[in-house]
Amino acid sequence: MLVVAKVQKCERCQRRYRGSGDWNVTTRDGEAIGILCPTCQTPEENVEAVVNQATLVYARDAAGRTRGKPEDGPTDVEGLAIDLLRRTEDAVMRLASLAADTGITMSLDDAVQMVEDGLPSGYPMPAEEGTTGRRAMIALMARDLFSGDAYED
Ligand SMILES: [Zn+2]
Repeated sequence: MLVVAKVQKCERCQRRYRGSGDWNVTTRDGEAIGILCPTCQTPEENVEAVVNQATLVYARDAAGRTRGKPEDGPTDVEGLAIDLLRRTEDAVMRLASLAADTGITMSLDDAVQMVEDGLPSGYPMPAEEGTTGRRAMIALMARDLFSGDAYED
C-alpha cells in the first residue's frame, strides 16, 4: 500500500489519489517527488508501479516525506521484473503453442498459474491477495504479451 504525504494529485492530469489502484510514485534520489495515476502511466511505468507495490514498503519519515525501502530480498526491482517477464513470456509461448495444437483456448489465469507453478519456493517477491502483488503483476505482463503491447515502442 502506498502512503502518500504531500503529493496527492497525479502530476500529469491532477486527478486525486483516493487510496486505490496501481498508482506509481515518481522519485528522485529516493524521495517521492510526485505520483502518477494508472491512466497516465506508460505500460512500463505501470509494471513499475505494480513491482513497487509488491516489493517495497513506503514509510513516512519525520519530515513527512515518503520513502521507499526494500522489504526483504533483492533491492534490484528491475532484475526481478525482468525475471518475471521472462517466465511469463515463456508460459505465454507454451500456452500459445498448446492452444494451436489442441484448439483449446487459453486464459490469463492459465498463464499466471503456469508461471506460479514454475517459481522456486522462496521466490523473493511473495504472492499476495488482491489487486497488487506477484499474481497481479504476472497477469498484467501476460495481458500485455497476449495483446502484443509488450513488443511495442
Ligand atoms: Zn493522471
